[in-house]
Amino acid sequence: MTTGERLQFLSIGSGSSGNCYYFGDGKQGILIDAGIAARTIRKALRDIGTDFDRILGVFVSHDHVDHIKSVGTLGEGFHVPVYATSGTHTGIERSWGVTQKLNGSRRYLAAGETTTVGPFSLTPYPVSHDATDCVCFALTYGPYNIMVATDLGCANEAVSDLIRQSNIVVLEANYDATMLQKGPYPYYLKQRIVGDEGHLCNDETGRLLAENWHDGLKHVFLCHLSKDNNKPSLALETVETCLRDAGVAYENGVRIEPLSRNVHTLIEFDD
Ligand SMILES: [Zn+2]
Ligand SMILES: [Zn+2]
Repeated sequence: MTTGERLQFLSIGSGSSGNCYYFGDGKQGILIDAGIAARTIRKALRDIGTDFDRILGVFVSHDHVDHIKSVGTLGEGFHVPVYATSGTHTGIERSWGVTQKLNGSRRYLAAGETTTVGPFSLTPYPVSHDATDCVCFALTYGPYNIMVATDLGCANEAVSDLIRQSNIVVLEANYDATMLQKGPYPYYLKQRIVGDEGHLCNDETGRLLAENWHDGLKHVFLCHLSKDNNKPSLALETVETCLRDAGVAYENGVRIEPLSRNVHTLIEFDD
């Protein structure tokens, strides 16, 4: 399929203060997660010349509040369809963080089944994380295969397979193991973060990328960095060290970039 348009990726928020990613082509787009204020999302979209009426759907990874805060406003207030698995919809319904509940905007996803909206096709795959239900997404647009995996305690076969099939990967690099260990978090919270249903550390992310690296992989965005237990420079350095240690020749034309927690970052793909 040819779309004739240039693919844009806008990171509007990334991390425990709120997550929201836009993929679009100037005419239309989709959001993955809506964990920040609707007015912030709207402003970010307007800054790149689009608005909610050109958003074909918001696809929700899981029901933690940093991913769902604005789904009610987007869905019921702005009529953006809200796509999630039935488990995640149940979690949204119960969540204290979503004041406006979903009604007519609710749409259902099933693991492994592809949903197509306009030129975008999305397939959710389960990942290990301590939400009601949690998925990563395989997204295709024209020639691009994209994986978005935010919030996962450990990788699984689906995540590895998707990295091997993707040109663009958005993957969590949540924490630096030493910073977390020496940091101020209480013991139970540290145990939760390092557990198999918590988050990926920089080393795990780096090794996962190294194990599944391929020539078609052109853009890697490190997402959901912890404010207290990570730094963008450290995440990048650790991932690059893992790649070098594994003998991966990533320097040649590959972009690896940590996403800011709250500075909007626009990337336009032309390859
Ligand atoms: Zn999160
Ligand atoms: Zn989460």
